[in-house]
Amino acid sequence: MPTENISMNYFSGKLINWYLQNKRDLPWRNTKDPYLIWLSEIILQQTKVEQGLSYYFAFAKEFPTVKSLAQAENNKVMKLWQGLGYYSRARNLHETAKNISENYYSLFPNTYNELLKLKGVGDYTAAAIASFAFDKPHATVDGNVYRVLSRIFGISTPIDSNDGKKEFNQLANELIDKKKSGTHNQAIMEFGAIQCKPINPKCSICPFSEMCFAFANNKIKELPFKAKKILVRKRFFNYIVLNHHSCIIINKREEKDIWINLYDFPLIETEKEIDEEEFLNSKNWKEFILNKKYIIKSVSITYKHILTHQKIYARFWEIECDKIFTKSLPKTCIKINRKDIFHYPVPKLIENYLNSKGSKIINKK
Ligand code: SF4
Repeated sequence: MPTENISMNYFSGKLINWYLQNKRDLPWRNTKDPYLIWLSEIILQQTKVEQGLSYYFAFAKEFPTVKSLAQAENNKVMKLWQGLGYYSRARNLHETAKNISENYYSLFPNTYNELLKLKGVGDYTAAAIASFAFDKPHATVDGNVYRVLSRIFGISTPIDSNDGKKEFNQLANELIDKKKSGTHNQAIMEFGAIQCKPINPKCSICPFSEMCFAFANNKIKELPFKAKKILVRKRFFNYIVLNHHSCIIINKREEKDIWINLYDFPLIETEKEIDEEEFLNSKNWKEFILNKKYIIKSVSITYKHILTHQKIYARFWEIECDKIFTKSLPKTCIKINRKDIFHYPVPKLIENYLNSKGSKIINKK
């Protein structure tokens, strides 16, 4: 075991010492309120601190308690989350707030195992809430921790394998100072975020440089090791922005796909990027437009939008119709005044389009 020659006290002591001198002052570190800690942890999953901060402040202000979040309208929660991505986190956040409000008297469970039963709370988040709010001795293992441990101890087991997860989890729990679990967890994650960074770690001023395997063996770029490559799927979206005077049609996404519960426009998805002629001759377009009278006001440039597993190429067709019957459209479509669209939660792609020059020109007509 790599810890043979390094005692827990030595490792944790060095780490906490570094943390106390270098930590950033972040609002969720000054509270023991499990609700605020949970909120920050859900916001920070897949999100950098700089981006997550404003969302944390907005949520904590709008919904200062778990009960107030539970009572909120879903659209309001999704709107506040807009732009942060990974929208299932917002849905789970809301659902879990309702669950705690209804089934736990609005009090967060205080054990790791009980926390794990909450929707959207996995090993990492349960350990974070248990240690930060309740001082329970559970190690948090996130991407930062994988990086720090793999580099210092020279572990090349893939971090995306079951063996790797088990090995790193065991090591992290061996190293934690059980009497200072919250501070230790904060320290190791902060160390990974600002000292042992993915690129250009600050090895020359690192308290662990003398014992760090990766530093001694020039393996910093190779550790941590991942076995699988992410497969990215390309998708081609043709959004139909149906206008009738000041009204447009928007669509609530309810199918099992990206952006559930957010609003976009009626969509024709194609297998590849097609030109305007192909599009207007396609069966899907003809079925969509049926015998409506219309003019095409503009076709946008292609917007490229990148998600973790998908690359989306989207074009927006601004169509002016003589009338709009929502009855002939999917049930998820509603007619609204175009200027009201900003009250609805929309994906970043739609927000970018609406804020673009092309969209504004259409708006003025
Ligand atoms: S010496 Fe470099 S690679 Fe090793 S722990 Fe320190 S910052 Fe990370």
